[in-house]
Amino acid sequence: MEDVINYLRKVRRGAMFVIEGPSGTGKGTVIKEILARDPHIKFSVSVTTRAPRSNEQNGVDYYFISDAEYDRLRDEDAFYEYVDSQYGNRYGTLRSEVDSFINVGEDVLFDLDWMGARQMKEKAGADVVTIYLLPPSIKEVRRRLEGRGTDSREVIEKRMDMVLEKISHWSEFDYVVVNAELEDTVEKIRRIISGERMKRVRQLTGLQTLVDELVKEGEALRRA
Ligand code: 5GP
Repeated sequence: MEDVINYLRKVRRGAMFVIEGPSGTGKGTVIKEILARDPHIKFSVSVTTRAPRSNEQNGVDYYFISDAEYDRLRDEDAFYEYVDSQYGNRYGTLRSEVDSFINVGEDVLFDLDWMGARQMKEKAGADVVTIYLLPPSIKEVRRRLEGRGTDSREVIEKRMDMVLEKISHWSEFDYVVVNAELEDTVEKIRRIISGERMKRVRQLTGLQTLVDELVKEGEALRRA
């Protein structure tokens, strides 16, 4: 029985989960918790031209690169999607972070803005599941941005200005979760992930093999 379950997991097609929400919704913390609790979902590390914050590590949170490197990667078509001017910085998803995992049944989690989510849907269609995190209030967004102590006042004001614009895209997403309480949010997203994993399209190869085996077994038993 264990073998059948392992086999089905391995031949399953992975899904791509895109999580978006304005700065200050607690998106980063939610993502870290999901990754820590689920060994079968891998984080797609984006590239960015912005400077690392004090708590960020190269290769873990982002690949921090120069504008020249960014131009080179874009010209080499190394990006699955990219957005060139977010807050004056540039971001991109590397193809190499994605394909090798999807094809062997591992899921990939992306922290992208709404433009990235839209591009992923256009390119990868049914493989992509998008989740929008809404803050419980705008006051709470400001409190979280100031509380993390990683951005300058100027950057915080810029991010606050963008919150309402960003929120206006909530209805383009497949799922919407209000992040009022971390544990509750993480569990809701974990339930979304496990439901999506069960979709027939993601299990096609494995299910066909299993059903063929069940039919053979059933016919043999009938003959016996
Ligand atoms: P931050 O600078 O706060 O880390 O990220 C700013 C915004 O850029 C966030 O909304 C984040 O989701 C988005 N972002 C990060 N990486 C990518 C990426 O590779 N592509 C796109 N489209 N957006 C990204």
